[in-house]
Order: sequence, then structure tokens, then C-alpha cells
Amino acid sequence: MSIADSIKDINGQLPQGVRLVAVSKFHPVEAVKEAYDAGQRVFGESRAQELSVKAPLMPGDVEWHFIGHLQTNKARQVVQVAHVIESVDSLKLLRLIDSEAARAGRTIDVLLQLHVAREEAKSGFAPDELLSLADAGYLEGLTNTRIRGIMAMATFTDDEAQIAREFATVKQTFDTLKAGAMSGNTSFDEISMGMSDDWHIAVQHGSTLVRIGTAIFGARQY
Ligand SMILES: *Cc1c(COP(=O)(O)O)cnc(C)c1O
Repeated sequence: MSIADSIKDINGQLPQGVRLVAVSKFHPVEAVKEAYDAGQRVFGESRAQELSVKAPLMPGDVEWHFIGHLQTNKARQVVQVAHVIESVDSLKLLRLIDSEAARAGRTIDVLLQLHVAREEAKSGFAPDELLSLADAGYLEGLTNTRIRGIMAMATFTDDEAQIAREFATVKQTFDTLKAGAMSGNTSFDEISMGMSDDWHIAVQHGSTLVRIGTAIFGARQY
């Protein structure tokens, strides 16, 4: 299927209120343009350097989401171009993004990354850890950062029940925050979960943002 047809196909299946983040990492800007011409406006990149190269080559109405692990020494670079940083996995990074956004005169949206997968390598806050930090007020006091919700990745497995359990944990954690520590934050409304192989399961569990690469652009050449 072409890039345009894949985007139409996925959008045709997404319930209302769920947005598609087209994950263009490792694909050339020509592929991103093809998706743009098909109407896609939200793109996800996972490396600071690649984002900085691609963003100026695309029209200004593209909404860039940074979805990779963000090293602190790349925060300044990413804050310049990203609209949403989905992969905030520590308080240190959250504070740094806030100060870099202030320095750049920007307000940036972020999602807090939850670790629900079995793989140790995946980063993020444990659900209980995030709830405790939120209750203790550690997510307050930001001036140039809006916490818009949470992001998570499920375990890479064929076991759909396992994936469903993990997404249910994400939804539950979001709901607890929304009703409790984040109840004063009216823009806390995004749950980013679901990739090429598991987005159907993710939308059944309340995802509002699906991050899809391979199913749109094909396999990545590393
Ligand atoms: C690469 C990546 C995706 C997209 O994965 P696909 O399986 O190609 O759809 C989604 N989320 C994150 C965080 C990624 O790094």
C-alpha cells in the first residue's frame, strides 16, 4: 500500500477523538512530504539531530512530536522545534525542558512516559512512582511546560492479553491522575499508546494518540 493509502486506511479505522502520529524516524523527508500531501500533519521523530534536519524542510503547520529517549544535552535542541515531547521519563528532564522552554520563549506540551512493559530497557516512570510524585506536588510549579497526559509502550510480544493488561494499567494510571493530582489541569487529556502492531488494542483501552511508523512508511533502514 502507498503511504497515502496507509494513512487513509488507518484514519478510517480510528475512532473519533483518536489522532494519528505518523512516526517518520529513519525515513527520508520525501516520505514525510508524501504523507503531508495525503493530509497528515502530526509526525513523530525519536532523534534530536534527525528532527532538527527534517523540521525546517517541512511546511510550518506540521506538529512535531518527539518520542525517543531525550538526553539532557539534547533538550535545548529539541525544545526549539518540537511541539510535544512525549517521552519525559524523569523529573530532572521535566525541569530541564521547562527551563529550556522559558529560555527559548516557548511553551511546550509534554507527556510523561510510563514504564509498563516487561523489557527493562524501556524507560519511564513506574505507575506507582508517578502517582506518588504527582500527589507529593512534584509535577507542579512549571512555567513554560504543559503536562498534557501520558505515553507508554507495551511489551514487544505476540501475547495480546499481556499487551491489553499493560494498556489497561496505563489507562487506569491516567484516570487516577486525572481525578486526583491533575484534576486542576484542564489540558491533561492525552493518552499516547499503540504502535503498528498493537494500536487496535490501544484504542480499545482509551488511547487518544497512536504512534505508527512501519504500517505507514514500511520497514526502517537502520
Ligand atoms: C519507532 C516508534 C514507534 C513506531 O513504531 P512502529 O512499530 O514502526 O509503528 C512508536 N513509538 C515509539 C516510542 C517509537 O520509538
